[in-house]
Amino acid sequence: MAKLIDGKAISAQIKEECKERVAKLKEEGIEVTLAVIQVGNDPASTVYVGNKKKACAYIGIRSLAYELPEETTQEELLALIGELNGRKDVNGILVQLPLPKHIDEEKVLDTIDPAKDVDGFHPQNVGALCIGKKGFVSCTPAGIIQLLKRSDIEIAGKECVVIGRSNIVGKPMALLLLRENGTVTVAHSRTRDLKEITKRADILIVAIGKPKMITADYVKEGAVVIDVGIHRNENNKLCGDVDFESVAPHCSAITPVPGGVGPMTIAMLMHNCVESAS
Ligand code: NAD
Repeated sequence: MAKLIDGKAISAQIKEECKERVAKLKEEGIEVTLAVIQVGNDPASTVYVGNKKKACAYIGIRSLAYELPEETTQEELLALIGELNGRKDVNGILVQLPLPKHIDEEKVLDTIDPAKDVDGFHPQNVGALCIGKKGFVSCTPAGIIQLLKRSDIEIAGKECVVIGRSNIVGKPMALLLLRENGTVTVAHSRTRDLKEITKRADILIVAIGKPKMITADYVKEGAVVIDVGIHRNENNKLCGDVDFESVAPHCSAITPVPGGVGPMTIAMLMHNCVESAS
């Protein structure tokens, strides 16, 4: 049976490290501060924002909450970001996505000062990742690298296959694996013979957004499988993009859902906040 990669334990470890660093910064007179902006009241966003605020409180990061009404105009939102960009006491700025339809998401993300872009979505940070320069990295893929490293899973020289090419997960994931000297293939919705490709993987990262799509016949015996997907099944229970029962017996290591990749995203957001103030 596969070893379970424990995202809960690893994220807790990272949060403790952040807590210590925040306390040290406090002694130096620096109060790490994250501004969290939510526009409208999408219930899922409210849960995510609440979890981020809770994590900040636990670690000792000051969080400033901006809960703006659905009717907020793009100009008003851009003006707020401009103000926060200019504030010396604000280290990180996070705009919870998705934004209401009348607001251009790309324009908003481009307006955040790259030095405060703790989500790692600004083109300057994405470009920095691409050419191996320092910058903020998208939290979910950064968390996956930590899961692998802290579980003593070697990346260098391994066949790594990423399914999914989103800007938030798939693409930065591929770049990070390349940075760690993996041999990287990116598969997506237009990939032919997906199984042939995924069966080559020593490390298979699955970020498709389709519940339980990846079954044992996609996976090489002994592979490491990282499941990024989060869904609720017909019984309201959480499941991933990987059919865990089918795949786990064939892996050397696998992330469960919940308790795998999920908790890492917030832990890495906290890590990025600490970095923004360091
Ligand atoms: P997305 O919809 O932006 O991208 C999905 C990708 O999968 C696309 O690039 C598409 O080409 C590919 N794809 C779709 N159907 C495919 C198919 N049949 N075969 C091969 N590739 C296919 O999604 P995303 O934002 O990258 O998220 C992916 C999943 O991860 C979702 O379930 C999402 O909820 C989850 N997610 C989890 C976290 C976390 O913290 N755990 C964070 C972000 C996203």
